[in-house]
Amino acid sequence: MPERFDVAVIGGGPGGYVAAIRAAQLGARTLIVEKDRLGGTCLVRGCIPTKAMLQSAELYTAVRAGEEFGVVAEGLRFDLGAAVRRRDRVVDQLVRGVEGLMKANGVHHVRGTARLLPGRRVAVGEDVYQAGDVIVATGSVAARPPIPGIELALDSDGILGLEEVPESMVVIGGGVVGMEWGACFAALGARVTVLELLPEILPMVEADMVRLYRRHFERGGATIHTEARVEAITGTPGRLEVRFRRGREPQVVPAQVVLVATGRVPYVEGLGLDEVGVRTEGGRVVVDQHLRTSADGIWAVGDVIGGIMLAHVASYEGVCAVENIVGHARRVPDYHAAPNCIYTDPEIATVGLSEREARERGVEVAVGRFPFAALGRALTLGRTEGAVKVIADARDGTLLGVEMVGPRVTDVIAEATLAVQQRLRLGDLELTMHAHPTLPEALLEAALAAEGRAIHVQNRRTPGAGRAPLVRAAGSSASPAPLSASKEGAVARSVEERPKGAAPPALQVDGSLRLSAEHRQELLGVYRLMFLIRRFEERAQVEYTRAKIGGYCHLNLGEEATVVGGILALRPGDYIYTAYREHGHAIARGIDPRAVMAELFGRETGVAHGRGGSMHIFDFEHRFMGGYGIVGGHLPLAVGAAFAVRYQKAFPGTSQGGRPGDDIVFCMFGDGATNIGAFHESLNFSKVLQVPVVWFCVNNQYGMGTSVERASAVPELYRKACAYDMESIRIDGMDVLEVLHRTSEVVEQTRRDLQPRFIEAVNYRFRGHSVVDPDRYRPEEEKERWRRSDPVHRFEDQLTEAGIATAEDLERIRSEVEAEVEEVVRFADRSPNPPVEELFRYLYAGEWEMYDHA
Ligand code: FAD
Repeated sequence: MPERFDVAVIGGGPGGYVAAIRAAQLGARTLIVEKDRLGGTCLVRGCIPTKAMLQSAELYTAVRAGEEFGVVAEGLRFDLGAAVRRRDRVVDQLVRGVEGLMKANGVHHVRGTARLLPGRRVAVGEDVYQAGDVIVATGSVAARPPIPGIELALDSDGILGLEEVPESMVVIGGGVVGMEWGACFAALGARVTVLELLPEILPMVEADMVRLYRRHFERGGATIHTEARVEAITGTPGRLEVRFRRGREPQVVPAQVVLVATGRVPYVEGLGLDEVGVRTEGGRVVVDQHLRTSADGIWAVGDVIGGIMLAHVASYEGVCAVENIVGHARRVPDYHAAPNCIYTDPEIATVGLSEREARERGVEVAVGRFPFAALGRALTLGRTEGAVKVIADARDGTLLGVEMVGPRVTDVIAEATLAVQQRLRLGDLELTMHAHPTLPEALLEAALAAEGRAIHVQNRRTPGAGRAPLVRAAGSSASPAPLSASKEGAVARSVEERPKGAAPPALQVDGSLRLSAEHRQELLGVYRLMFLIRRFEERAQVEYTRAKIGGYCHLNLGEEATVVGGILALRPGDYIYTAYREHGHAIARGIDPRAVMAELFGRETGVAHGRGGSMHIFDFEHRFMGGYGIVGGHLPLAVGAAFAVRYQKAFPGTSQGGRPGDDIVFCMFGDGATNIGAFHESLNFSKVLQVPVVWFCVNNQYGMGTSVERASAVPELYRKACAYDMESIRIDGMDVLEVLHRTSEVVEQTRRDLQPRFIEAVNYRFRGHSVVDPDRYRPEEEKERWRRSDPVHRFEDQLTEAGIATAEDLERIRSEVEAEVEEVVRFADRSPNPPVEELFRYLYAGEWEMYDHA
């Protein structure tokens, strides 16, 4: 039997190794196969070695120009050997770091060349591995154009072997790789000539910004020929000539070294893609919007799928693919804010749309520019070349793109990337204080300039600049309005923004709901609710591992039938007391899922204003008293609440009582709680006092990592209630209609006679105790067996077999839910944090005050 993995990743570059770590974080048993060194092109031959060499070149340039700064160095020379040794040490350290990360995350690393076999199997030499899903991340290699004599040229791999700085170098190709190496060797003293076929170098950057860069590059003695078609390379190593033609004019340039940098092509050699049905097009692996290839269970990310061939894009895709596989998400990569950095001298960085692209899309643009020559920090650094350019939508000020040429702009672009990604507006940048003196102040000034109100430069009136609509439109949803300066105002506003659930649950069904066509709408509603809980919880897990959710986080996955059936059996006036910490019961009760997710994110718009988190989901209007402590601390409180209900009923309309009611208290807890003293005390008191409480034990068979069978002398937990002379039943918690019917009967009996009762709903959680639990204590066969009675799938089958829903009906509901969950996360993401000074208000007692019930 081949060794089995949930996810097998082929290729250990930034696409592959990041995917592997993410998969392991999400609990998948993960394999990574790499034929060379972990880290891929990026660490071993690309991003890192080039930047290490560029750093040496930058330092050399700075010291050469040091006299002006008071740094006088005599006998200065450049030692390429030393620079290369440092470069290699940096690479080695990073590669070792990735190796360590694989170990730390429990990823199984195999060194060798992988080949795909049918049935999601991966062969490495004689060994064969079975995978649930495979991610192809085999990257790219340097392209070699069919030019006579091209074998005499070095590519970006070969140039790493240079032992001395050449006197002259011709770079064929004025893209990123060519310009970075060109800049490096020009700074080290080589006479560099760049030959570019297109009308301009760096075609991904706007022409006006390229001009800023070229001016500086050419002033240093380098030459750029554009519209230059290379025809041949002749000569012998070390004494080469490059023949090219500009228009009709043939030209020759001599060079000691020729670097060919005409792009990269996806690498799929020997993978066996055809045999397993993975479609390719022009050499790249074709994927759908979720990064799935044409073969079932095979995914692809990074350079091998073409598109934007950058390391961070590969990593981002790796994470998306894994979350789609393991987290069952439906992430579609969003490239609108993929930054592009070029580490030349000066540096260049862009994100989002260029001015030209925005205009081509018919957008009326507002453009702001700010030159580094006007910036204090740039002057102190002695690096005043270049500028920042901001492109915004003139109608509302939404930032569309930013382009920068200048010192360290590859770092400054981070703020611009966040702003473009979050679709912030020009005004949002102004609201953010920028430390002084720093380079990012140039971004702030460029944003102000787009509105015709830069502070440190004369404003030019650009079309659209300075117009009133750049102020955020009222009700705009692009991002939440900034917190008001006044404390009271801030709280009042955020409370107002908070989605208020109507007191009745969103879905109300009859407790005797049957599988019949006349109840189609209610049945589909039940299905929607179950699927919503499933997707919500899966997303919560993903967001937790992105550190959006803090503290503990428990999930209802596998328990949807229990929580939906149990909660739908209640009436709006019933009280729910629960320290059961998952989120499905809150959603089933009709609490707005956006407010639940916002609570998990710790946002002001959450159910407890971001003060409660996963452990304290509370909603006054829905009579949902969630979480007072862990493991059963709320059971005695439920007795107290039920006693109050009984008291009201006994003395209706009196000053001591209040209003008559037939509410009951529904107290939910897990199997672990049945082992504590408070459980027994509470059952005892409820019986002695004869109060209307229904004890609802969600027995998912494991209290943390210990099985109920080992933890409890009486594994059939409903039998514990017999000790208190209480009626109790055990039900199938994987069957939503059974849970609904049986719970409903019990609840209604208790409503009538005020006697406490006990229900044990047996189900199985599909994940660990909380999202950080690696869940290694449960046998795989057991998990597999329970997955076969997945409550969501079981209900789907019931609906289709009874002819109540078609596969298309269910698919439509699932798509609606996917969109809803996206919106839920977006809402939580964009909600404001609670004001720090208000953290102790508006939790439980605060709600009471606010609703004027005090
Ligand atoms: P790769 O990094 O190419 O990794 C693929 C890995 O798969 C390789 O290690 C390969 O050995 C392995 N592999 C292939 N086939 C098999 C097989 N059958 N079995 C096992 N293993 C296999 N990007 C940036 O974002 N910033 C930069 O500054 C930057 N600078 C660059 C400079 C240079 C000179 C170059 C060449 C590239 C640069 N890039 C930069 C691009 C960046 O390196 C790539 O976009 C990135 O490495 C792509 O990642 P990947 O995981 O898709 O593929």
